[in-house]
Amino acid sequence: MAIRYRTQGFILKKTDRGESDRIFTIYTRDFGKLEILAKAIRKIKSKLRKGTEIFYLSEIEFVQGKIYKTLIDAVLVENFRKIGKDLRKMALSFRILEILDNLIRKEEKDEKTWNLLINTFKELNRQPSIASNQQLLFYYFIWNFLSVLGYKPELNICSLCNKKLVPKNLYFNFKEGGVTCEGCFRKAGEGERISPETIKVLRFILEKKWRVVSRLRIEEESFISLKRISDYWIKFLPQAAIF
Ligand SMILES: [Zn+2]
Repeated sequence: MAIRYRTQGFILKKTDRGESDRIFTIYTRDFGKLEILAKAIRKIKSKLRKGTEIFYLSEIEFVQGKIYKTLIDAVLVENFRKIGKDLRKMALSFRILEILDNLIRKEEKDEKTWNLLINTFKELNRQPSIASNQQLLFYYFIWNFLSVLGYKPELNICSLCNKKLVPKNLYFNFKEGGVTCEGCFRKAGEGERISPETIKVLRFILEKKWRVVSRLRIEEESFISLKRISDYWIKFLPQAAIF
């Protein structure tokens, strides 16, 4: 007899298959990212439909067949309703899911990523609709997620000469995965200018102090700098052949 597995899962993606089936990509608490087949789910009567929408946190049960895992139960735990009512929140949520799906390996349990994902969605759902706060939450997720994957940037000492950083002219060097001093920036010939204030925000983010981060009054210039460096970092890492 096939063994049944029960766990909590967050629905990342769904793809229709055949006449009435669907394949779900689900990030689960106990087994990491899984692809699970749901048979006949597109039929109106399917009881699985109530627990299987994108951005749903559900209690799921599946069996492992020879080729596929098959979904046999899905009960909604939390649907983060307010995200679906806010276009900006929706856009950020899809970006988070896309990055997660692209960078994470299949079938590898990771409690830190699981907690970060669920907490980020809880917070995004709860937040009032303030663009800068939501954007910050997105960076909070991205930098912490990449850190879990082993890409925590060096923010305290120069990534090249190892000297303690003086809060003056500093640069983010993507190849070295951290901040460098001005002298090393000139020698290396590459890097993106980063302000001491942006470094401070990044430190709070990486210390997982969301309460502090969400209350910071960040100057426009530092916010733009944070955005530019985060965008580069996200683009740079897959090219650096993470896997
Ligand atoms: Zn240096």
